[in-house]
This record gives sequence, C-alpha cells and structure tokens, in this order.
Amino acid sequence: MKSTKKNDENDNPRLPWHALSTEEVATFLEVDTLKGLSDAEALARLEHYGPNSLPETKRKPHIAIFLHQFRSPLIYLLLAAAGAAFFLGEGQDASVILVVVLLNAVIGAFQEGRAARSLDSLRRLATMKVRALRGGHEVMIEARLVVPGDLLLLAPGDGVAADARLIEAKAVESSEAALTGESLPVAKDTVRCSQELQLTDRRNMLYAGTHVTAGRAKAIVVTTGLGTELGHIAKLTTTAIEPKTPLERRIHQFSMYLVAAAIVLFFLVIGVGMLRGLSFNQIFMVAISQMVSIVPEGLPVAVTIALAVGVQRMARRGAIVRRLSAVETLGSTSIICSDKTGTLTRNEMTVTAISLARGERLQVTGAGYAPDGKFLAADREIEINGDKDILSLLHASILCNDANLIRPDSKDTRWRAIGDPTEAALLTLAFKGGLSPETTRGGFPRKAELPFDSTVKMMATQHDKLDGTRVFIKGAPEFVLDLCGLYQSRGDSLPIDADRRQMLRDEAEKMAAQALRVLAFAVVNGVPIDGRVGFDAFRGQAVFIGLVGQLDPPRTEVQEAVSKCLAAGIRPMMVTGDHKVTGMAVAKILGIYRDGDLAYDGTDLEKLSEEELGQKIGQVSVFARVHPSQKLRIVEALQKSGKVVAMTGDGVNDAPALARADVGVAMGITGTEVAKEAAKIVITDDNFATIVAAVEEGRLVYGNLKKVILFLFTTSISEVVVLLAALVAGYPLPFAAVQILWNNLITEGTVTINLIMEPLEGDEMQRRPISSSEPLLTRALLMRMAIMTPTIVAVTFGW
Ligand code: ADP
Ligand code: MG
Repeated sequence: MKSTKKNDENDNPRLPWHALSTEEVATFLEVDTLKGLSDAEALARLEHYGPNSLPETKRKPHIAIFLHQFRSPLIYLLLAAAGAAFFLGEGQDASVILVVVLLNAVIGAFQEGRAARSLDSLRRLATMKVRALRGGHEVMIEARLVVPGDLLLLAPGDGVAADARLIEAKAVESSEAALTGESLPVAKDTVRCSQELQLTDRRNMLYAGTHVTAGRAKAIVVTTGLGTELGHIAKLTTTAIEPKTPLERRIHQFSMYLVAAAIVLFFLVIGVGMLRGLSFNQIFMVAISQMVSIVPEGLPVAVTIALAVGVQRMARRGAIVRRLSAVETLGSTSIICSDKTGTLTRNEMTVTAISLARGERLQVTGAGYAPDGKFLAADREIEINGDKDILSLLHASILCNDANLIRPDSKDTRWRAIGDPTEAALLTLAFKGGLSPETTRGGFPRKAELPFDSTVKMMATQHDKLDGTRVFIKGAPEFVLDLCGLYQSRGDSLPIDADRRQMLRDEAEKMAAQALRVLAFAVVNGVPIDGRVGFDAFRGQAVFIGLVGQLDPPRTEVQEAVSKCLAAGIRPMMVTGDHKVTGMAVAKILGIYRDGDLAYDGTDLEKLSEEELGQKIGQVSVFARVHPSQKLRIVEALQKSGKVVAMTGDGVNDAPALARADVGVAMGITGTEVAKEAAKIVITDDNFATIVAAVEEGRLVYGNLKKVILFLFTTSISEVVVLLAALVAGYPLPFAAVQILWNNLITEGTVTINLIMEPLEGDEMQRRPISSSEPLLTRALLMRMAIMTPTIVAVTFGW
C-alpha cells in the first residue's frame, strides 16, 4: 500500500475519509469495489495491520486479585481476632488465624483468577461474524479478520466491525449509541462531507461498535482495531465490572447477618465461660476461634466459582452466557417462549406444494436444496414449460429473493443455502422447474426494493422490462392477498371476486394445516416502488399468482426437550411470526400444544385487554403472526402472572423483548448483533433443546450452592452447640482454639469445592422451578439442619 501517513498505534492509514469521494477512498485503499480484496491480499494486510480487535481487557494483576480477597467484613473480623490473640500473648493462635486468612486468600485468588480466565476465553467464543465481498464472492468472515480495504455488506441488525466509508446505501440508518450516546438511529448516505464535520455528522461513515438498523449498505473498511474511533475510546475507559448477581448480593447480605451473629456469640461464649470460672485468656481464645469458625470465609469465593463452573458447563452444551446473572435466573425459569423457525424446527426448507391462483394444486418432489425433483399434478409428472402461471411464480421466486444456492464443491458435497433458507428453497424450486437463477437475475436486474420486515411480513422488488415497470411481491398469504384486486389465470389478469378470495384463503389454510410454511406471490405492472408509500401503493392493483408451501421438519431432539420441560414444571410456548394454523400444527407434533390449550394470533392479541390477557395467558401455548412489539407485551403479561420468562429472538426489533425477559436468549447462527447484545445468553446452535440443557445446568448450580450452604452452616452451628453445651454442662472444653481453626480451614477449603463441582444428579429436571423470591435458608434446609445438628452434637459427646 502506498500509505504515507501512518497511525502510530497499529499502522492504520489515517485520512479524512469522510471528505474523500468513494473513488478516492477505493483507490487509496487499492480495492476493486465490485470484487473486494483477494484472499491473498486480505491475508497480507492482516499480517501488516494485525487483527481487527481491541486488546484483551487488561486482566487484574495477580497481586490485585490477591489483595481483593481481604476486602470482606469476614476477613476484617478474623484479622481483629488475630490481633487480639497476639496481644493476649497467644502467639500460636494468632499465627493460626493469620495462616487461615492467608491460605484463604491464596485459594480465593487462585480460583478467582482461573474463573476470570475461563470467562474471558468464553467471551471470545461468541465473536462476531460479518458479511464481506472477497474475490468477487460474498463470504462470512470473523470480524477479527477484517482488514482496511475490505468491502462490508450490511443489513438491518448487523454490527459494524470496523470504521468504514459507505459506497452504496439504500435507506440506511444506524444506531451509534455505543459510540456517541445518541439513542436515535442516524440516517446515512454516500455523499462526501466537508472535512471539519464532527464524528456525529459524518453521514457517509459507519463506525465500529455501532449497528445498522435499517436498509442495505456496502462500505469500504478504512481503519481496524485500535485505530477505530471505538479503539480510541477503549483506550481511555477501563472495562465495566460485571455487577453482582442477585444470588451474590443475597449471600453478601446473609454474610453480614452472620458477622453480627458471630459477634453476639463471641460475648455469649465469654459470658458463659467466665460464669463457669474458666480463665479469661483461655475462654477468650476459644470464643475467638468460635467466632472465626462460624464465619463462612469460603462462601463468597464458592459462589463465584459455582457461577463460573456453571458458565463453563453451559458452554460445553452450546449456551454462551453473556451475563453471569443468567446462570441463576435460568435455574428458576418457569416458561420458555420460543421462536418456531430454526429453533423448534430445523430451518431447512423444501417446497413441497404449490397452489395456483387459477385453482390448481401441484406437488413438488425432492428433499433438501439439491435441485432434484419433479412437479406433479394428481401424482402425474407435468410439463411446465408452456405454463405462464407457473413461470410467473418461478420468476417471482428468483427475483424477489436475496438468497443464493451454492453448488456442491470440494468443500461440501451438498447443495447449500446462503441467506434465508425460506428463500433458498425457492431457488431450488426454480431449478427443478428448469430455470437458472443467474440467467434470470442477469436479465432482470433489481431497480428498487422494499426489504422483508417482520412487521409487514412481505417484501417487494422492482425489475423493469422493456414495456414498463414490474414489481414482484412475496410474503404471508393474508397480507399479500389483501393487496390483490386481480389474479393470474393462464397469463391473463382477472378480477378477484368474493368466491375466489375465499378459495385462496382456504387454500392457504389447508397448506398451513399440514404444518407447511406458506408464502404468496403477486406481481404489479406499471407502479414503481416508492419507499415512502410502501406497499399501499399496490393496493388493488396487485395480481395474485399463487401460493408455495414449504416443509420445515421439526427438530427431533425438541420433542424430548419439551417433555423434559413439562416434567420440570416449565411451560414451553411458541411465539412465531408464522400463521396460526402452521404454528399449531408444528406445536402439536412437538407436544407444545395440547388439547384444551389456547392459540392466539396477533389480531386476537390486539383485541385483548391487559386483564383478559392476564387471565388467559396461563392457557396459551401458541402465539402466531405476532410482530416483534407484541413479544414485549407477552413477556410483560407473563411476568405479571409471576413467571420467570426465557424468551428467544433474532431480529433487531426483538431486542426490547429480549432485554425485558428474565433471560433473553439470542440465536447464535441467525441472530443479529443487536439481538445478541440485548440477550443474556446466546445459543450457538439455535436449538430449543440447548435452552433446556442450559436450564438444567442453572438448576445444578443452584442445587450445589445450597449443598454448600447447608454444609457450612450445619458444621459451624454444630461446633457452636457442642461448645456451648460443654461450657454449660461443665465438661472440659472439647476443642482447643487451634483445632477449631484448623478444622474450619480444611473443611471449607476442600469440601465446599467438591460440592460445587458435583455433577448432575439426574433429577434436576423433575423438580419444580426455584422461586426467585425463595430465601437462601429455606424452611426445608432449616429442618435438615435442625435434625443434623443434634446428631453431630450427640456423636461428639459419645452419647
Ligand atoms: P418466524 O421466524 O416465526 O417463522 P417470520 O417473521 O420470519 O416468522 O415470518 C413470518 C411470515 O412472513 C412467514 O410466515 C412468511 O409468510 C413471511 N415470510 C418469512 N420470510 C419471508 C421472506 N423472506 N420474504 C417474504 N415473506 C416472508
Ligand atoms: Mg424468521
């Protein structure tokens, strides 16, 4: 590269990119804006500029972690005790206490360091992927590998991986809150700006750490890593410390009560001992040891480790924890609201049925994305070449489509989908019909588009012909049909009467009842796309072509996961954008929808008042045709009815619901960066069964911590009772001060760790969910302590 001025940090070129023309930027960065960098060039630049990542957050130095262990009221108490012992001339006891404190700090520091390291490496697992153009091909690459000169392709929900200059922008908006604090999205374009403009006003730039919220963009990366604006900020700020989880806070509070109890006990033991005529020095040392032993120094560390272990175990099962609090919240989850497509089903679509508007049904054979299959009518293969209606349908399938199919190659022997599987399956269909997507797309380039949006559930693309403008529409049947005043029959456009409308509706419903995902196609002639008017411009003028039904097989492992949930007192619920009938059919197969359950769609939901929804929501197992904003309402209604809600999501507009849910679950594969950031956990395989596995692990963490608490308190209380009993009864003192301390150290150090590491018992998923308001020491736990303590006391005295 002929970079003249170099950035001192990482060699990134530095120029006022926003003030240059797109051609100048491309020339300077030596990149062909149609093809992108070659793989070899990208590799060379990666070596030159280094990876596109910010340095690891500086880990706390060992000494800081070590000193941190002393910052606890429990330790202050111990140190005070050691000091007192020393002044009373009990040097031996004082040193034992100090050894206890030191060892505790060493163990704690060691464990904490290890936990922090494993959390770090887990965070790295959840790295961002970006879509880029390299060597003329669209590829998904890790954000780390992006280099200056790379061409990024961005769609709504995508994170921006590096600072980049826009060279193409269709209605692009981006959210720059992470960088500028401005919460509203900013409109972006490719127009050259004047050089003095501030960061926030440079409308032709996209910055690392921000998100695209609308439109489609192509941009040239200008700086990466520390050279980015985000990098400058990162250098200034230290990373935020993860807030304490509710459980940690509760345990902290609990420790404070214990400190108080220990102090009271201290005076009690001294009082009783003096009454019995023991020497002050002797009884004082025993009282101190006693106080020391009741203090659960190991508990805070135990909690930290338990959560970290939980995080690791969840990661092994495919759930990446982004917030530590999710570990315990998962343990108390009582309802899991799940998307259908991809989470409950495999998201591997195959078109199996077609219904033409003129009133004819076809089957399509074959499975997967390989274009091997036939068109059948009444079980007989048909010739589709001369059929204008089928050809229109296939044209619309190819053109109103953003996906690509990859032929088998040396990397994989199967046909693969790039982009939305729903759309890829349509390309397979076109191939089966003898059309080539490349040729068709080459002949009718896209002039304008209304991208798919899960609120309107349709998309449209414009492809002009010699004789005028033509727009294809594809989307959910009710919505498309709503726009249509005409239907296509043997190439002609005829008006839709009430009967025809009803017939088309029935057709769509029949397909849906077979668990098919149904799409409708329409064409409009002579009306161009206008982004500001949207679909309303086509109302009445759209010509209905037909319906396509896709089979998306349910995931086999989900059925078992659903029964696991039910046994565990967790209610699975489907929340889908798909049709109610399709949703119910799939939910029935999986056991989510059972007789007597309710199924609502978005329209039903609109009609319900808050109260009615609150009353009914306990019986609903399917919410269909919901738009993302309604997801938020569902979460809130469930929470109001006392549920701890896990909710899945993938799109930009799912973010509010994900953030509101007790456990927001983002999809690792299909999820946008925005969704992942709003979520507490990310599921690497998009699979419902993985959520259930994470719940199981969450319950294990909680269960093991309870064992630790039971163990710690039963032993300390037993010691106290034994000692008090001996004092009161006038026996010789059962333990010397040193013994008490030593015992305390060994038990807390070893047994608790073992308890925390305990594996699944197997019945975690047969218990009820743990209530989030449940106190640390439940009645059941207290009962067990009440039984165990006298037993230990009795055994000690040899009764
Ligand atoms: P879900 O992911 O829960 O199945 P979506 O919001 O993805 O829901 O889809 C809702 C509906 O929108 C689908 O039932 C389908 O009819 C329609 N749809 C989905 N994807 C597309 C697409 N790429 N183009 C047009 N319509 C689509
Ligand atoms: Mg979807």
